Amino acid sequence: MLTRDDLMTLDGEDPLAQYRARFDIPDGLIYLDGNSLGAQPKSVPAAAGVVLDEWQSQLIGGWRQAGWWELPLAVGDKIGRIIGAAPGQVLACDTTSINLYKTISAAVALRPDRSVILTEEIGFPTDQYIVDSVAERTGRTVRSVPRDESPADYLDDSVSVAVLGQVDFRTAALLDIPTTTAAVHDAGALVVWDLSHSAGVVPIALDADGADFAVGCTYKYLNGGPGAPAYLYVNQRILSETVQPLQGWLGHAEPFLMANEYQPAPGVRRFLTGTQPIVAMRVLDASLDVYADVDVAEVRAKSTRLTEMFIRLVDERCTGMGLDLLSPRPAESRGSQVSLRHPEAVAVYDRLVANGVRGDFRSPDILRFGFAPLYVSYADVWDAVEVLQSVLAR
Ligand SMILES: *Cc1c(COP(=O)(O)O)cnc(C)c1O
Repeated sequence: MLTRDDLMTLDGEDPLAQYRARFDIPDGLIYLDGNSLGAQPKSVPAAAGVVLDEWQSQLIGGWRQAGWWELPLAVGDKIGRIIGAAPGQVLACDTTSINLYKTISAAVALRPDRSVILTEEIGFPTDQYIVDSVAERTGRTVRSVPRDESPADYLDDSVSVAVLGQVDFRTAALLDIPTTTAAVHDAGALVVWDLSHSAGVVPIALDADGADFAVGCTYKYLNGGPGAPAYLYVNQRILSETVQPLQGWLGHAEPFLMANEYQPAPGVRRFLTGTQPIVAMRVLDASLDVYADVDVAEVRAKSTRLTEMFIRLVDERCTGMGLDLLSPRPAESRGSQVSLRHPEAVAVYDRLVANGVRGDFRSPDILRFGFAPLYVSYADVWDAVEVLQSVLAR
C-alpha cells in the first residue's frame, strides 16, 4: 500500500516541482481541472497591465510600435515550439471551432475528387458539428470511426481528410500521431489533428511526423485564460497550395493596399481572417512563457506517473465503492487525465468540490480528473484520493 510519505518522496525528486510557484492557485484547492481551464500564471496580471498601457499611450500606433500586428505569428511560433513545428507554420487566432472549419475546408479543397470526411464517432462535439457543416457545404459525406476502433481501418481512396483528436476528452485515450498520420497518407488522404487535450502534456512532433494540419485551444494545459485565442498549424509542404474558406483582409498578401481582389499572403498568415483580440493575445503570450524552457518529455514523464499513482490509489483505497476506470490502463495509451464512472457521479462531483477537490463531471456518469504536471503535485494526488474515498464512504 502506498503512503502519503511515498508521494511526498516523489515530490522531493520531481524536476518540475519549481514550476508550481509560477502559478497563482487558490489556497486549499486541489485543482484537477487544468484539462478544461488551466490555472493562472503569476506573470499574467502584469502582462495584462502592459497591453492596457500600450493601448492608452500608443493608441493606433500600438499595432506597429507594440508589435500587435505580429502577435498571431509570434505567439504561433511559441506554440510551435511546444508542438514540434518550425517557425512560420502556426498562427494563434480565433477559436478551435473556427480553426477546424478553416483547416478541414482547406484539406477538402486539396482532395477535390474524394467524397468522404473521416472522423471519430464520439469525438468532441464541436469537432463533429464542424465536420458536418463542412461536409454539408462541400457536398461530402461523413464517415465515423466507432470508439475503440482504429481510424486506419476506415481509410480508403474516397477519404479526403481524417479529423482526429490526439487525446479523447471523455476517456483520455491517446492516438499515436506518427503511425496514424502515416496510415492516412498511405491512403492518399490528409489529416487534421486536434491537439486541444494534449498540447503541453504529450510530446508532439508535427513536422517530424509529417502532419498536414493541426488545431487546438490554449486555455487548457497551455494556461492561456478563458476564451484565449486558439491556434492552427499548416505544414510548410502544402502551405502554398492551401485555400481557406474565410478569406478576410488580414489574410491578404498586402492588407493595406485595401485591394478589391483577394490575394492570399504567401505564408501561414493566409489563414488569418480579421483582427485578433490583442488583450487576450498578450495574456496568452505571457502564459506561454512558463513553457519557454520546459521539456514536454519531462512533463509527460510526470504526467504518466501522476495518473498512474491516482489509478493505483483508487484501486487500493476505493474498491467496492462503485467506481469503474474508463481511461485506458496502460499509461502509454492515456493522456494526462483519468476518467472514472460512478452511478451517482453528479453527487460525488458536488461533494468533491465542496471538499476542495475540483475535477469535473461529464454526462451521464463520468468523473474526470486532469493532472497538469506543472502545478499538480504527487501529494495533491494523495489528498484528492483521500477526499474521494471519504466522500464515497458516506
Ligand atoms: C476544448 C476543445 C475544443 C474547444 O473549442 P472552442 O472553439 O475553443 O470552444 C474543441 N475541440 C476539442 C477536442 C477540445 O478539447
